[in-house]
Amino acid sequence: MECLNRCGSMLEVFYNDVEIDVCPVCIGVWLDDTELAEIVRSPERSWPPGVVEHVLEVTGKMGIPSAEFDRELDCPQCSKILDPVNYQANSGIITNTCQNGHGVWLDHGELAKVQIYMEHWRKITRGA
Ligand SMILES: [Zn+2]
Ligand SMILES: [Zn+2]
Repeated sequence: MECLNRCGSMLEVFYNDVEIDVCPVCIGVWLDDTELAEIVRSPERSWPPGVVEHVLEVTGKMGIPSAEFDRELDCPQCSKILDPVNYQANSGIITNTCQNGHGVWLDHGELAKVQIYMEHWRKITRGA
């Protein structure tokens, strides 16, 4: 498939055993339908020192920056403009999601942020 940022062809790669599309130019990621949920559910992986702390510092914000509404990313399946969505409502990680449930676009680094955020949240709910 083509990159939603119009960089050219995306590559199919395996990430935590889930096949995803990654753009080699902008490092954006397209995840079909349930793929993000699968990745988030998959076992913990280790992150370089400092990365977790940095991500948690910048996450946990409500709302969506207005610039996100100016982006025109089309769903590769139905060509509708993707909606900016604050992942989990208040993570501060802005994903671009197809209203018809086809999938989600994540900019460079956002997939790792989602994983770190969800792992942190799981640890809190486990009381660990
Ligand atoms: Zn790209
Ligand atoms: Zn769609």
